Amino acid sequence: MIVEPDTFRLHLQVLREEFTILPLNEWVERKKNNLPLPSKACAITFDDGWLDNFEYAFPILEEASVPATLFAVSDMIGTCELFWPNRIARLLQQPANRLNSIPWLQKFSSNPFISPEVSAQVIYSLKDTPDHQLLQLIESAEQALGITPESSPSLMSWPQLKQLSDNELFDIGSHTSHHFRLGADLDSAVMQREIIESKKQLERELGKPVNLFCYPNGDYCDRTIEEVAKHYEAAVTTQPGINGSSSTDFFTLQRFGVHQDSSFNRRKLLAKLANWP
Ligand SMILES: [Zn+2]
Repeated sequence: MIVEPDTFRLHLQVLREEFTILPLNEWVERKKNNLPLPSKACAITFDDGWLDNFEYAFPILEEASVPATLFAVSDMIGTCELFWPNRIARLLQQPANRLNSIPWLQKFSSNPFISPEVSAQVIYSLKDTPDHQLLQLIESAEQALGITPESSPSLMSWPQLKQLSDNELFDIGSHTSHHFRLGADLDSAVMQREIIESKKQLERELGKPVNLFCYPNGDYCDRTIEEVAKHYEAAVTTQPGINGSSSTDFFTLQRFGVHQDSSFNRRKLLAKLANWP
């Protein structure tokens, strides 16, 4: 989800007026220990560890003294790697005659202009392909088309992540090692590694305990929850909603994803947070 800096400033203003903003780990701890909580508590989270979060969002949070949690993909921090949807979007920028040489991209090459909407459709159509298979397909297509790795990072470096982690307003959680989707079709050993190694790596680099987890793409199954619960205090999903009832499931916490076009004024943001379609 993407919002402009001024929209984000407006979000903070509205959230502060309507809610008490707490760090997610404090909310979890209070809720688990039956300690008092504000009647309307709200926590702010960011996924992936994008560099623009460091450049734009976190200075705005710091200026407003608002806490937030960032879920980082440990093996991608400090690299120039891209997530697979971004790599597909980059492949689709190639001219049609070049895309034609790649069998699984042929059906898209007839389109003379691939708009962001078409790109989104292509990415959506590949969502059922397992990550390892998808990454192989992308890698061989990139090789065949001579696409070289990115030379500038889209994600934060370790010193940048450490700088955020050292600020008492901010907390870092795990979003796996490689952003693999942790659904029922993922091999157990790989799933375990993604959940455990990311925690270890983040704790080693940041020198702090990492207690919160975020499921890539919001995908999980019973096995995922079981494994995450062994190593973390709580986990967030992409399921929109409010975690208000007394029977909160700490490993399937709901969130609202906000995007510029559905949150650029006060009314739109509040409608979004009320789960208005
Ligand atoms: Zn993510």
